[in-house]
Amino acid sequence: MASRDRRKKKLLSYLGRFLPIILTLIFGAVYAVIRQPGGWKAAGGNETALPRGSGMLTVDFIDIGQGDAALIEAPDGQFMIIDAGPPEVSDDLIEWLNARGVEKIRYAVFTHPHADHIGGADEVLLNFGVETVIMPETEFDIPSYYRLGRAISLTGCETVFPRSGDSFELGGASFRILAPNSASSENLNDMSVVLRLEYKNTSLIFTGDAEEQSENEILDIYGISDLKSDVLKVGHHGSSTSSTVRFLQAVMPEYAVISCGRDNDFGHPHAVTLRKLEDIGAAVLRTDMLGTITFVSDGDRIYYIANETGSR
Ligand SMILES: [Zn+2]
Repeated sequence: MASRDRRKKKLLSYLGRFLPIILTLIFGAVYAVIRQPGGWKAAGGNETALPRGSGMLTVDFIDIGQGDAALIEAPDGQFMIIDAGPPEVSDDLIEWLNARGVEKIRYAVFTHPHADHIGGADEVLLNFGVETVIMPETEFDIPSYYRLGRAISLTGCETVFPRSGDSFELGGASFRILAPNSASSENLNDMSVVLRLEYKNTSLIFTGDAEEQSENEILDIYGISDLKSDVLKVGHHGSSTSSTVRFLQAVMPEYAVISCGRDNDFGHPHAVTLRKLEDIGAAVLRTDMLGTITFVSDGDRIYYIANETGSR
């Protein structure tokens, strides 16, 4: 009896000593989930903010102003980036990726060589260990494109010009290339790499700046089961030159993400696109209004977390 009491006392004294540490760890973990870089909070009808990391697919549409940049964290923790924003915010992008804990990047997809998509591409390559660059086989006479070429040769990373239908594994998730389907186009936007990212029963389509021609080519080849997705990164920042009704009806996204800058010179997103998205019942999420928008998928359900204001 006496020894049991002693053990009980010992246990209590251990608990007394370690309880503050345990509580600190628990509160720290909860705080880390809620307080991501940029001051996240749950928004838009999410029941809960899910933690990133093991077993979850996470996609951040990063608040980079007028342009595109998305970070994907695979269920096993590998990273992939799709586009790298305009050149003038490349320092901020690198800082954001560092704060987000990115060290190595398995795939860097540069959808097409316009400056608002590859502006920070060279810095991404030079700052993080990028294994493979995926980009269309085309070129464009701008400084960002030459800086990207230089960074590819400096770092010696693999470069893949993907073909429509190609599939890639990414740490428990996978993605399939849907475009480009033409060998060349007068319109560089229609050379955009379009891909569908899949994790179990959830999927997201990334369109770069693909316009009507590319959307029609995708529809000629792929059926509804290849295209239907939970999330659509709306083509070309919500421009009226993309998002044909037929394409939207094939994808039928629950969420439509528009990556664009506040008061941008192009009037993106165009009213006609917003109307079409409303017609198909998609919830429109805009980086200019919400800042960085994060989706988390457990393979069955997909949630989003966002700021309430865009910063650019
Ligand atoms: Zn663009």
